[in-house]
Amino acid sequence: MKKNILLCFATIALFSHEIYSQSPTATIALWKNDAKGAYTIIHDDYGTSVVDGIWQYADTIAFNRGLKITFGAIAIECETHRNIKGYINPYGYAKNVMIDLHHHEIINHSHTHSCAVNRGWSPCDVTGWGETVGTSEWNTELVNSNNSILTGTGVAPKFYIYPYDQFTDTANSKLQSMGYIGSRTGWSIDGVQRSYPRFGYEANDLGDFYPDDKGFFRTSVQVFDDADGLKNDAGQLSTLNLGVDSAIMYGEWANRELHNVGNSGWGTVRVAPYRNHLNYVKSKVQSGDLWMGTVSEILTYQMQKLKFIPSASYSANSQVTTVNFADSKPEIAVNVADYLAPLTIKTPVTVIVDMAGMSEQWIVMQNNTSITDFTQKNGKLYINVYPHLGPLEIFKISLLSAYESNVLHRNIYPNPTTSVLNIEGDVKLVRILDLQGVEIKRDCKNTIDVSDLQDGVYLLKIDSSPLFQKFVKCAQ
Ligand SMILES: [Zn+2]
Repeated sequence: MKKNILLCFATIALFSHEIYSQSPTATIALWKNDAKGAYTIIHDDYGTSVVDGIWQYADTIAFNRGLKITFGAIAIECETHRNIKGYINPYGYAKNVMIDLHHHEIINHSHTHSCAVNRGWSPCDVTGWGETVGTSEWNTELVNSNNSILTGTGVAPKFYIYPYDQFTDTANSKLQSMGYIGSRTGWSIDGVQRSYPRFGYEANDLGDFYPDDKGFFRTSVQVFDDADGLKNDAGQLSTLNLGVDSAIMYGEWANRELHNVGNSGWGTVRVAPYRNHLNYVKSKVQSGDLWMGTVSEILTYQMQKLKFIPSASYSANSQVTTVNFADSKPEIAVNVADYLAPLTIKTPVTVIVDMAGMSEQWIVMQNNTSITDFTQKNGKLYINVYPHLGPLEIFKISLLSAYESNVLHRNIYPNPTTSVLNIEGDVKLVRILDLQGVEIKRDCKNTIDVSDLQDGVYLLKIDSSPLFQKFVKCAQ
């Protein structure tokens, strides 16, 4: 009797320990790849000759460092026939090189660069087009520019830069109806700039980075102005680097507005400090501190981070960790699948799964697809996925390592499989076992129906071989 009680206690203690050590948790990282801060560079006025440094320098300086920039096109300037590295107009170079080859993002910076709204100072001290719905200027600056960019590059822009950063909410509503996910509003409604670290966020929400209730983002910006353009090289570099340092320090997004790269133009950055700045950015990306994306990547990341709450659970029976995504923030009335579907430029989010001390090798599956974009560090998985595509299944495969050390593999496919497993070559007897070595089924063909197996990892034993191979069965 006494012995039984002791045994019972021992079992409970062991069991409790197992529960504790196999309770994984999941979160969505603040920024992609768990970077501390996020960064964008938007070059304004693409198409005008005063910012030809965008295609002469910025394009390749960024690309050569594995970085993506965003550039705002003035549509009528991009349509103008002039030779840009052998292309007939700025659209030609943008489409064939900057977009298709270098994966930079083009956004809409109006058709003629007229003021959108009267803010009381020159040049925007006359009634602006953004204030009057349906006027020819309204249609020109919002709609014609959009259609021009689509025709000229094949890309539908999804973000708008107001000329002189002067905006109206009526124009924002129009942009949203056209499928835009945000605009750069730049200044608060009363024309007062926000304090430095918050420049990258909503003018109407200092505490966080939120869209409106329909999912439209109004983002602010860090302007590199004419005073910055007059600084020496070291001064320009430190001004630009400070934005990056601030984003990393505060865990925020710095959204840098630039114009030309070269020796002339309003707020120009000279080539040497621009190159050195992007060297600095690259070093911060490589150290894991910074994520640099295009503006649509930043906004789609943020939208998914706001709308999904992940939760992880581990099943001791199947040895599968499942990560489910719950809908969050019903006040943002966005269906993420519908929101993302029309966008050509978007990004998955980084889901961090803390495996709670299980230091193993893993296979990650989502919706019958093996996810390869994940890394494993200090007992955590960093998995880049779109949560709206479904739950994650994480399979533990360490139990197989002892079997696998000397295995001469036969080709089995597909692996993972949902229904059928094919075995290369002739077979006499195939046995399928669970990870405890219990036989689940056997067959004598080289095509085996496994659709009736529960999701999980299994062992395959072929003929009289003493060796085992693993395969994964996952949901239909
Ligand atoms: Zn501009």
